[in-house]
Amino acid sequence: MPTDREKLKALRTRIPGNRTALLGDVDHILATFQEPTWPEKAKHWTKAIARWIAAGCRVRDPEEQERCRMVCHKCPSKAYEPQQQMCVVCGCGVAQHIFRVMDKVAMATEVCPEGHWK
Ligand code: SF4
Repeated sequence: MPTDREKLKALRTRIPGNRTALLGDVDHILATFQEPTWPEKAKHWTKAIARWIAAGCRVRDPEEQERCRMVCHKCPSKAYEPQQQMCVVCGCGVAQHIFRVMDKVAMATEVCPEGHWK
């Protein structure tokens, strides 16, 4: 019995290539299905903070942060969830935040899980 996610993937292959808006909607739904659970997010976040503190709480310079955020906004892996401004691969927030520990892009020890920026 196929899962909902498998059904959506199969449906995506049947949509003609020129229906970009519809494909975008399907990609958004697929991205939502990929989102880590809250315990997984907490685990990723705890590890990220530990790495960041161990490395001296280094922060990327503003230009570098902006470059990374622009890549996320047009994520080649379709992993950017704009409503929550989150990467659905790792579950981390990629929006600018007053608290660095809530901003994956600001923390210099963090990288894109799909290798789109370092
Ligand atoms: S961190 Fe990487 S995979 Fe995640 S949204 Fe940004 S570019 Fe995409």
